[in-house]
Amino acid sequence: MMAYYKIQIVALVTLMIVFPNTQGWGEDGHAIICRIAQSRLSNTASEAVKDLLPKYAENDLGNVCSWADHVRFYLHWSAALHFADTPDNLCNYQYDRDCKDQNGEKGRCVVGAINNYTGQLLNYGKETQYNLTQALLFLSHFMGDVHQPLHVGFTSDRGANLIDVHWYNRKQNLHHVWDVNIIETAEERFYDTNIGDYINAIQGNITKTWSDEVKGWETCDSNETICPNIYASEGIKAACDWGYKGVTENSVLEDDYFLSRLPIVSLRLAQGGVRLAATLNRIFG
Ligand SMILES: [Zn+2]
Repeated sequence: MMAYYKIQIVALVTLMIVFPNTQGWGEDGHAIICRIAQSRLSNTASEAVKDLLPKYAENDLGNVCSWADHVRFYLHWSAALHFADTPDNLCNYQYDRDCKDQNGEKGRCVVGAINNYTGQLLNYGKETQYNLTQALLFLSHFMGDVHQPLHVGFTSDRGANLIDVHWYNRKQNLHHVWDVNIIETAEERFYDTNIGDYINAIQGNITKTWSDEVKGWETCDSNETICPNIYASEGIKAACDWGYKGVTENSVLEDDYFLSRLPIVSLRLAQGGVRLAATLNRIFG
């Protein structure tokens, strides 16, 4: 029996290596957003998050922010919830038109998922059928995904997953460059390969450079708990203005691309963290 489980674990780890994350910021991007968010929680929200987090997270939301990526290999229904596809070259997003899965089922996209798990979490403290730990981990992850510009990308290139490029001298696809490579290169070059230093730099910008904008990021119209349509609309615009811009099949992306896009990545990580915190604060009161 032990051997059977060992084989299962080896198979799972192998799967994770063979199919690296192509549907979300990488581990670091998600962890950055969740750690920024957790540092901005009200006392009540902080207690609720602590209560809902699994023990192994050690009260660090950042430790489990990529859980949704790890389970999508066996929770197949969740795979469509990491992104939204828009019509090619249109550069705008509309819920009724774009939030659906490959079978056309409405609401099955990252925006619908954010609405759904927010709704579930509003049952915290009440008798509920929902698994609110899962709801918290899904919401925290999908709030990250919706802020990755190419998670609201064009349909036919699957959010730039099908656009092959070179990241300096390594073969890569454009989606992965935004999930992982820009962040990794920044950490290596500017932050001594230290995620904590990058988080501190972003936190510094939130309190200084972007301080006038933060209120606007946090606010939703007409007292909604959450407004992911806005985040998705910003996403496809950034995808057009910065992600896809100037890139064709086999483009070589080096310092020009990296240094001009890094501020966009940092901004989206900041917005993701600030908005996740604001949302959890509204949910838990
Ligand atoms: Zn994801």
